[in-house]
Amino acid sequence: MTGKSNLVSPLADNYSSMVLLVDDQIMICEAVRRALANQPDIDFHFCTDPLKATTVADEVKPTVILQDLVMPGVDGLDLVRQYRKNSSTHSVPVIVLSSKEDPAIKGEAFEAGANDYLVKLPDRIELVARVRYHSRAYLDHVQREEAYRALRESQRQLMRANLELERLTRIDGLTGLGNRRYFDEYLAAEWKRAVRTKSPLSLFMIDADHFKRYNDTYGHMAGDEVLKQVASVIQSSCNRSTDLAARYGGEEFVVVVVDILQAQSGAMAERLVQSVRALSIPHGSERVTISVGVATMVADENHTPNDLIKAADLALFRAKSEGRDRVVYYD
Ligand code: GH3
Ligand code: MG
Ligand code: MG
Repeated sequence: MTGKSNLVSPLADNYSSMVLLVDDQIMICEAVRRALANQPDIDFHFCTDPLKATTVADEVKPTVILQDLVMPGVDGLDLVRQYRKNSSTHSVPVIVLSSKEDPAIKGEAFEAGANDYLVKLPDRIELVARVRYHSRAYLDHVQREEAYRALRESQRQLMRANLELERLTRIDGLTGLGNRRYFDEYLAAEWKRAVRTKSPLSLFMIDADHFKRYNDTYGHMAGDEVLKQVASVIQSSCNRSTDLAARYGGEEFVVVVVDILQAQSGAMAERLVQSVRALSIPHGSERVTISVGVATMVADENHTPNDLIKAADLALFRAKSEGRDRVVYYD
Protein backbone atom coordinates (compact mmCIF):
# COMPACT_ATOMS: atom_id res chain seq x y z
CA MET A 1 0.00 0.00 0.00
CA THR A 2 2.73 2.47 0.94
CA GLY A 3 4.65 1.62 -2.21
CA LYS A 4 1.62 2.41 -4.29
CA SER A 5 0.60 5.55 -2.53
CA ASN A 6 4.07 6.98 -2.89
CA LEU A 7 3.36 7.08 -6.60
CA VAL A 8 0.09 8.88 -6.07
CA SER A 9 0.42 11.78 -3.68
CA PRO A 10 2.01 12.50 -0.35
CA LEU A 11 -1.46 13.54 0.85
CA ALA A 12 -2.80 10.09 0.19
CA ASP A 13 -0.65 8.38 2.84
CA ASN A 14 -3.09 8.61 5.72
CA TYR A 15 -6.27 9.58 3.96
CA SER A 16 -8.51 7.67 1.64
CA SER A 17 -11.45 9.30 -0.03
CA MET A 18 -14.94 8.01 -0.56
CA VAL A 19 -16.58 9.93 -3.38
CA LEU A 20 -20.33 9.87 -3.89
CA LEU A 21 -21.52 11.30 -7.19
CA VAL A 22 -25.21 12.15 -7.47
CA ASP A 23 -26.09 12.67 -11.13
CA ASP A 24 -28.99 11.34 -13.20
CA GLN A 25 -26.84 10.98 -16.35
CA ILE A 26 -25.13 7.63 -16.49
CA MET A 27 -22.64 9.06 -19.04
CA ILE A 28 -21.38 11.58 -16.50
CA CYS A 29 -21.10 8.89 -13.83
CA GLU A 30 -19.05 6.76 -16.18
CA ALA A 31 -16.77 9.67 -17.10
CA VAL A 32 -16.12 10.57 -13.45
CA ARG A 33 -15.58 6.93 -12.58
CA ARG A 34 -12.92 6.71 -15.28
CA ALA A 35 -11.29 9.94 -14.16
CA LEU A 36 -10.87 8.56 -10.62
CA ALA A 37 -10.21 4.94 -11.59
CA ASN A 38 -6.40 5.04 -11.31
CA GLN A 39 -6.37 6.54 -7.82
CA PRO A 40 -5.97 3.73 -5.27
CA ASP A 41 -6.79 6.10 -2.41
CA ILE A 42 -10.12 7.15 -3.93
CA ASP A 43 -13.21 4.96 -3.80
CA PHE A 44 -16.11 5.85 -6.02
CA HIS A 45 -19.88 5.43 -5.69
CA PHE A 46 -22.60 6.97 -7.78
CA CYS A 47 -26.34 7.39 -7.51
CA THR A 48 -28.48 8.26 -10.53
CA ASP A 49 -31.76 8.50 -8.61
CA PRO A 50 -31.84 11.87 -6.83
CA LEU A 51 -34.70 10.69 -4.60
CA LYS A 52 -32.39 8.07 -3.09
CA ALA A 53 -29.41 10.39 -2.72
CA THR A 54 -29.69 11.06 1.03
CA THR A 55 -30.26 7.38 1.84
CA VAL A 56 -27.27 6.33 -0.26
CA ALA A 57 -25.18 9.06 1.38
CA ASP A 58 -26.17 7.64 4.77
CA GLU A 59 -24.96 4.19 3.77
CA VAL A 60 -21.85 5.04 1.77
CA LYS A 61 -20.49 7.57 4.29
CA PRO A 62 -18.75 9.69 1.68
CA THR A 63 -15.84 11.95 2.52
CA VAL A 64 -16.93 14.18 -0.36
CA ILE A 65 -20.14 14.46 -2.40
CA LEU A 66 -20.19 15.49 -6.06
CA GLN A 67 -23.63 16.93 -6.68
CA ASP A 68 -25.28 17.57 -10.05
CA LEU A 69 -27.57 20.60 -10.07
CA VAL A 70 -30.16 19.83 -12.72
CA MET A 71 -32.01 16.54 -12.37
CA PRO A 72 -35.56 15.49 -13.30
CA GLY A 73 -38.00 16.42 -10.52
CA VAL A 74 -35.35 17.46 -7.99
CA ASP A 75 -33.33 20.63 -7.52
CA GLY A 76 -29.72 19.73 -6.77
CA LEU A 77 -29.47 22.65 -4.35
CA ASP A 78 -32.39 21.24 -2.33
CA LEU A 79 -30.33 18.09 -1.94
CA VAL A 80 -27.37 20.14 -0.75
CA ARG A 81 -29.58 21.76 1.89
CA GLN A 82 -30.80 18.28 2.84
CA TYR A 83 -27.22 17.03 3.33
CA ARG A 84 -26.58 19.98 5.61
CA LYS A 85 -29.60 19.09 7.73
CA ASN A 86 -28.87 15.36 8.09
CA SER A 87 -26.60 14.54 11.00
CA SER A 88 -24.62 11.93 9.03
CA THR A 89 -23.79 14.34 6.18
CA HIS A 90 -24.01 17.77 7.73
CA SER A 91 -20.29 18.44 7.51
CA VAL A 92 -19.43 16.31 4.47
CA PRO A 93 -17.93 18.59 1.79
CA VAL A 94 -20.12 19.04 -1.27
CA ILE A 95 -18.69 19.91 -4.68
CA VAL A 96 -21.42 21.13 -6.98
CA LEU A 97 -21.15 20.04 -10.64
CA SER A 98 -22.72 22.63 -12.87
CA SER A 99 -23.15 22.57 -16.62
CA LYS A 100 -21.93 26.17 -16.90
CA GLU A 101 -19.84 28.83 -15.23
CA ASP A 102 -22.60 31.11 -13.85
CA PRO A 103 -21.98 33.54 -10.99
CA ALA A 104 -25.66 33.55 -9.95
CA ILE A 105 -25.83 29.75 -9.71
CA LYS A 106 -22.45 29.71 -7.97
CA GLY A 107 -23.70 32.18 -5.37
CA GLU A 108 -26.82 30.11 -4.74
CA ALA A 109 -24.79 26.94 -4.46
CA PHE A 110 -22.50 28.36 -1.77
CA GLU A 111 -25.52 29.88 -0.05
CA ALA A 112 -27.12 26.42 0.08
CA GLY A 113 -24.01 25.04 1.81
CA ALA A 114 -21.83 23.79 -1.05
CA ASN A 115 -18.06 23.91 -0.49
CA ASP A 116 -16.85 24.01 -4.07
CA TYR A 117 -18.04 24.47 -7.63
CA LEU A 118 -16.86 22.70 -10.77
CA VAL A 119 -18.06 22.90 -14.34
CA LYS A 120 -18.80 19.57 -16.07
CA LEU A 121 -16.81 17.76 -17.13
CA PRO A 122 -13.93 18.86 -14.95
CA ASP A 123 -10.34 18.26 -15.88
CA ARG A 124 -9.12 14.96 -14.39
CA ILE A 125 -6.18 16.41 -12.49
CA GLU A 126 -8.26 19.21 -11.02
CA LEU A 127 -11.04 16.81 -10.00
CA VAL A 128 -8.62 14.44 -8.24
CA ALA A 129 -6.88 17.32 -6.47
CA ARG A 130 -10.13 18.82 -5.19
CA VAL A 131 -11.51 15.46 -4.10
CA ARG A 132 -8.34 14.81 -2.11
CA TYR A 133 -8.29 18.30 -0.66
CA HIS A 134 -11.89 18.21 0.55
CA SER A 135 -11.68 14.61 1.82
CA ARG A 136 -8.60 15.42 3.81
CA ALA A 137 -10.22 18.51 5.33
CA TYR A 138 -13.28 16.47 6.21
CA LEU A 139 -11.33 13.59 7.79
CA ASP A 140 -9.25 16.06 9.80
CA HIS A 141 -12.46 17.64 10.99
CA VAL A 142 -13.94 14.28 12.02
CA GLN A 143 -10.74 13.34 13.82
CA ARG A 144 -10.69 16.62 15.73
CA GLU A 145 -14.32 16.20 16.74
CA GLU A 146 -13.63 12.68 18.00
CA ALA A 147 -10.54 13.78 19.90
CA TYR A 148 -12.52 16.61 21.43
CA ARG A 149 -15.35 14.30 22.46
CA ALA A 150 -12.89 11.81 23.95
CA LEU A 151 -11.18 14.63 25.84
CA ARG A 152 -14.47 15.91 27.23
CA GLU A 153 -15.46 12.40 28.29
CA SER A 154 -12.17 11.71 30.05
CA GLN A 155 -12.40 15.10 31.77
CA ARG A 156 -15.85 14.16 33.01
CA GLN A 157 -14.59 10.81 34.29
CA LEU A 158 -11.65 12.46 36.00
CA MET A 159 -13.94 14.93 37.73
CA ARG A 160 -16.21 12.14 38.94
CA ALA A 161 -13.20 10.17 40.19
CA ASN A 162 -11.85 13.23 42.00
CA LEU A 163 -15.16 13.90 43.72
CA GLU A 164 -15.38 10.27 44.80
CA LEU A 165 -11.77 10.34 45.99
CA GLU A 166 -12.41 13.51 47.95
CA ARG A 167 -15.46 11.89 49.53
CA LEU A 168 -13.45 8.80 50.41
CA THR A 169 -10.72 10.80 52.13
CA ARG A 170 -13.38 12.04 54.56
CA ILE A 171 -15.11 8.80 55.33
CA ASP A 172 -14.47 6.00 57.79
CA GLY A 173 -14.41 2.74 55.88
CA LEU A 174 -16.16 0.57 58.46
CA THR A 175 -19.00 2.81 59.58
CA GLY A 176 -19.49 5.35 56.79
CA LEU A 177 -19.30 8.20 59.32
CA GLY A 178 -16.77 11.00 58.95
CA ASN A 179 -13.22 9.90 59.74
CA ARG A 180 -10.83 11.37 62.27
CA ARG A 181 -9.20 13.65 59.75
CA TYR A 182 -12.51 15.10 58.62
CA PHE A 183 -13.56 15.58 62.24
CA ASP A 184 -10.36 17.54 62.97
CA GLU A 185 -10.92 19.77 59.94
CA TYR A 186 -14.59 20.26 60.68
CA LEU A 187 -14.10 21.10 64.35
CA ALA A 188 -11.31 23.56 63.52
CA ALA A 189 -13.48 25.31 60.93
CA GLU A 190 -16.57 25.41 63.15
CA TRP A 191 -14.48 26.64 66.07
CA LYS A 192 -13.22 29.57 64.01
CA ARG A 193 -16.73 30.40 62.92
CA ALA A 194 -18.01 30.14 66.50
CA VAL A 195 -15.28 32.53 67.72
CA ARG A 196 -16.46 35.08 65.15
CA THR A 197 -20.13 34.70 66.00
CA LYS A 198 -19.52 34.07 69.75
CA SER A 199 -21.79 31.05 69.58
CA PRO A 200 -21.77 27.80 71.56
CA LEU A 201 -20.21 24.61 70.29
CA SER A 202 -20.88 21.17 71.77
CA LEU A 203 -18.87 18.01 71.49
CA PHE A 204 -19.98 14.49 72.41
CA MET A 205 -17.24 12.01 73.14
CA ILE A 206 -18.83 8.57 72.80
CA ASP A 207 -17.29 5.23 73.78
CA ALA A 208 -18.71 1.71 73.60
CA ASP A 209 -18.82 0.11 77.03
CA HIS A 210 -16.73 -2.98 77.84
CA PHE A 211 -16.03 -3.49 74.19
CA LYS A 212 -12.87 -5.48 74.67
CA ARG A 213 -14.97 -8.03 76.50
CA TYR A 214 -17.50 -7.98 73.63
CA ASN A 215 -14.79 -8.87 71.14
CA ASP A 216 -13.37 -11.53 73.43
CA THR A 217 -16.80 -13.12 73.73
CA TYR A 218 -18.26 -12.77 70.23
CA GLY A 219 -15.22 -12.21 68.05
CA HIS A 220 -13.81 -9.16 66.33
CA MET A 221 -16.08 -9.46 63.28
CA ALA A 222 -19.21 -9.46 65.42
CA GLY A 223 -17.70 -6.45 67.19
CA ASP A 224 -17.37 -4.67 63.87
CA GLU A 225 -21.04 -5.29 63.14
CA VAL A 226 -21.98 -3.74 66.49
CA LEU A 227 -19.84 -0.70 65.75
CA LYS A 228 -21.71 -0.28 62.45
CA GLN A 229 -25.06 -0.41 64.20
CA VAL A 230 -23.98 2.04 66.91
CA ALA A 231 -22.61 4.35 64.19
CA SER A 232 -25.93 4.18 62.39
CA VAL A 233 -27.79 5.22 65.54
CA ILE A 234 -25.34 8.09 66.06
CA GLN A 235 -25.83 9.21 62.48
CA SER A 236 -29.62 9.13 62.89
CA SER A 237 -29.40 11.35 65.95
CA CYS A 238 -27.79 14.07 63.84
CA ASN A 239 -30.81 15.85 62.47
CA ARG A 240 -29.31 19.13 61.39
CA SER A 241 -27.04 19.44 58.37
CA THR A 242 -24.45 21.13 60.60
CA ASP A 243 -24.25 18.18 63.03
CA LEU A 244 -21.22 16.05 62.30
CA ALA A 245 -20.86 12.44 63.43
CA ALA A 246 -17.42 10.90 63.05
CA ARG A 247 -15.42 7.90 64.18
CA TYR A 248 -12.73 9.18 66.50
CA GLY A 249 -10.89 5.86 66.51
CA GLY A 250 -11.50 2.26 67.57
CA GLU A 251 -14.81 2.04 69.43
CA GLU A 252 -14.93 5.79 70.04
CA PHE A 253 -17.12 8.27 68.21
CA VAL A 254 -17.68 12.02 68.30
CA VAL A 255 -20.53 14.35 67.43
CA VAL A 256 -20.08 18.07 66.80
CA VAL A 257 -23.18 20.17 67.41
CA VAL A 258 -23.18 23.89 66.68
CA ASP A 259 -25.28 26.78 67.93
CA ILE A 260 -27.33 25.06 70.61
CA LEU A 261 -27.09 25.33 74.36
CA GLN A 262 -25.94 22.63 76.77
CA ALA A 263 -29.48 21.71 77.83
CA GLN A 264 -30.49 20.90 74.27
CA SER A 265 -27.32 19.08 73.30
CA GLY A 266 -27.49 17.19 76.61
CA ALA A 267 -31.00 15.99 75.75
CA MET A 268 -29.72 14.89 72.37
CA ALA A 269 -26.95 12.86 74.07
CA GLU A 270 -29.44 11.27 76.48
CA ARG A 271 -31.60 10.13 73.55
CA LEU A 272 -28.50 8.68 71.92
CA VAL A 273 -27.64 6.56 74.96
CA GLN A 274 -31.25 5.33 75.12
CA SER A 275 -31.33 4.51 71.41
CA VAL A 276 -28.20 2.36 71.65
CA ARG A 277 -29.63 0.56 74.67
CA ALA A 278 -32.86 0.07 72.69
CA LEU A 279 -30.93 -1.85 70.03
CA SER A 280 -30.89 -4.63 72.68
CA ILE A 281 -27.73 -6.23 71.35
CA PRO A 282 -26.82 -9.00 73.83
CA HIS A 283 -23.52 -8.48 75.64
CA GLY A 284 -23.08 -11.32 78.14
CA SER A 285 -25.90 -11.00 80.62
CA GLU A 286 -26.31 -7.29 79.73
CA ARG A 287 -26.65 -5.51 76.42
CA VAL A 288 -24.43 -3.20 74.36
CA THR A 289 -24.34 0.33 75.77
CA ILE A 290 -22.35 3.52 75.30
CA SER A 291 -21.06 6.23 77.58
CA VAL A 292 -21.10 9.87 76.47
CA GLY A 293 -19.14 12.87 77.73
CA VAL A 294 -20.66 16.19 76.67
CA ALA A 295 -18.86 19.54 76.71
CA THR A 296 -20.33 22.84 75.56
CA MET A 297 -18.25 25.99 75.20
CA VAL A 298 -18.80 29.45 73.82
CA ALA A 299 -15.76 29.66 71.60
CA ASP A 300 -13.26 32.48 72.15
CA GLU A 301 -9.66 33.38 71.26
CA ASN A 302 -8.32 32.16 74.60
CA HIS A 303 -9.32 28.57 73.92
CA THR A 304 -8.74 26.01 71.19
CA PRO A 305 -10.73 23.07 69.84
CA ASN A 306 -8.39 20.89 71.90
CA ASP A 307 -9.81 22.39 75.09
CA LEU A 308 -13.26 21.27 74.00
CA ILE A 309 -11.98 17.77 73.23
CA LYS A 310 -10.22 17.53 76.59
CA ALA A 311 -13.34 18.69 78.42
CA ALA A 312 -15.56 16.13 76.66
CA ASP A 313 -12.94 13.45 77.31
CA LEU A 314 -12.92 14.28 81.00
CA ALA A 315 -16.71 14.06 81.11
CA LEU A 316 -16.54 10.70 79.34
CA PHE A 317 -14.01 9.45 81.87
CA ARG A 318 -16.44 10.37 84.63
CA ALA A 319 -19.33 8.65 82.81
CA LYS A 320 -17.21 5.49 82.77
CA SER A 321 -16.25 5.70 86.41
CA GLU A 322 -19.82 6.47 87.50
CA GLY A 323 -21.02 3.20 86.01
CA ARG A 324 -21.20 3.59 82.15
CA ASP A 325 -24.39 3.60 80.01
CA ARG A 326 -24.92 7.29 80.76
CA VAL A 327 -24.27 10.91 79.84
CA VAL A 328 -22.03 13.16 81.93
CA TYR A 329 -21.72 16.93 81.30
CA TYR A 330 -18.52 18.79 81.76
CA ASP A 331 -18.70 21.96 83.81
P1 GH3 B 1 -14.66 0.69 78.56
O1 GH3 B 1 -16.08 0.43 78.90
O2 GH3 B 1 -13.89 1.21 79.69
O3 GH3 B 1 -14.58 1.60 77.36
O4 GH3 B 1 -14.04 -0.69 78.15
P2 GH3 B 1 -13.51 -1.14 76.75
O5 GH3 B 1 -13.20 -2.58 76.79
O6 GH3 B 1 -14.49 -0.73 75.71
O7 GH3 B 1 -12.26 -0.22 76.57
P3 GH3 B 1 -10.81 -0.53 76.11
O8 GH3 B 1 -10.24 0.79 75.73
O9 GH3 B 1 -10.06 -1.31 77.16
O10 GH3 B 1 -10.93 -1.44 74.86
C1 GH3 B 1 -11.46 -1.00 73.66
C2 GH3 B 1 -11.71 -2.21 72.82
O11 GH3 B 1 -12.36 -1.86 71.62
C3 GH3 B 1 -10.47 -2.94 72.47
C4 GH3 B 1 -10.63 -3.31 71.06
O12 GH3 B 1 -10.62 -4.70 70.88
C5 GH3 B 1 -11.98 -2.79 70.67
N1 GH3 B 1 -11.93 -2.17 69.37
C6 GH3 B 1 -11.31 -1.03 69.03
N2 GH3 B 1 -11.46 -0.81 67.71
C7 GH3 B 1 -12.21 -1.82 67.22
C8 GH3 B 1 -12.70 -2.17 65.92
O13 GH3 B 1 -12.48 -1.48 64.95
N3 GH3 B 1 -13.42 -3.31 65.78
C9 GH3 B 1 -13.69 -4.10 66.85
N4 GH3 B 1 -14.43 -5.18 66.65
N5 GH3 B 1 -13.24 -3.81 68.07
C10 GH3 B 1 -12.50 -2.69 68.26
MG1 MG C 1 -12.15 3.37 74.17
MG1 MG D 1 -14.84 1.32 75.35
